Amino acid sequence: MLTGIIVKGIGGFYYVNVGDEVIECRARGIFREQKITPLVGDKVKIRISSEDNSGYIEEILERESVLIRPPVANVTQVVVVSSVINPDLNTWLLDKILVMAEERHLNIIIYINKADLDIERAKEFKVLYEKVGYNVILTSKLTKLGIEELRASLRNNTNVFAGPSGVGKSSLLNALNPTFKLETGEVSLKNKRGKHTTRHVELLKLEKDTFILDTPGFSSFDLDFIEDFRDLRHYFKDIEKYNGKCLFNTCIHLNEPKCAVKDALEKGQLEKQRYENYILILEELKNRKRRY
Ligand code: GDP
Ligand code: ZN
Repeated sequence: MLTGIIVKGIGGFYYVNVGDEVIECRARGIFREQKITPLVGDKVKIRISSEDNSGYIEEILERESVLIRPPVANVTQVVVVSSVINPDLNTWLLDKILVMAEERHLNIIIYINKADLDIERAKEFKVLYEKVGYNVILTSKLTKLGIEELRASLRNNTNVFAGPSGVGKSSLLNALNPTFKLETGEVSLKNKRGKHTTRHVELLKLEKDTFILDTPGFSSFDLDFIEDFRDLRHYFKDIEKYNGKCLFNTCIHLNEPKCAVKDALEKGQLEKQRYENYILILEELKNRKRRY
């Protein structure tokens, strides 16, 4: 039996990358009986039937994670892409995406694109998020440096890119490998064309053991997975580290006395911008309508 990774699924066929080649496979009937649908990203064992020479998925190895939208298994890393301007970098949105990635326990890289349009601001964002504790890569007009740094960071991961439309995600993927040929351009045009084409989720192979999802992850930015707003504090890396240091264990760092987070904020050890976004998102979660 061969071991591989499902890179695409169309009409009951699964395309399994086994290293040097991609083999078209069907899933064994047993999966349907057990109501298990193979997912792109699944690591599988396949058998080539000696009768008809076609491939069969025999076993799905245990999944380490599953994303629902888009449906993909075993993603290990998310590259959060923003542009400095056009569209403007919105730290509130960026922090929301970071919350989603942290909740999933994914490796995170922040990639700030279009630095050519405002290098000074790009550098400010880099400093800000490096202080939080993230790996931040800047690129100016897809300079070689930014791309090679990104390529090295993607290695040995199944990567998903996240971020709003128009920040340059498709352009980046094409720069990593021109044969990917992803559609780029103005948002309005892309949306128009998107309506007429059926999208399949596909893992693109960048190099050995390194895959990239061709569709942006976290396409919906709602934080419904946080059932209790008090849990938000765990998904802000720079706030989580004060966990257990406040007077109250239950402190959500809002108005409580002797709060280590507010203390850090006053001493300049915590970025004001991050704390403000934390409060904004906290209020948003608190005020949301319960759907039941
Ligand atoms: P996506 O929606 O995130 O996939 O973004 P695209 O890759 O389609 O890019 C959106 C627009 O931004 C296109 O018109 C690109 O040419 C432009 N763009 C992408 N990267 C850069 C960059 O580094 N600098 C500048 N100035 N424009 C860029
Ligand atoms: Zn506190």
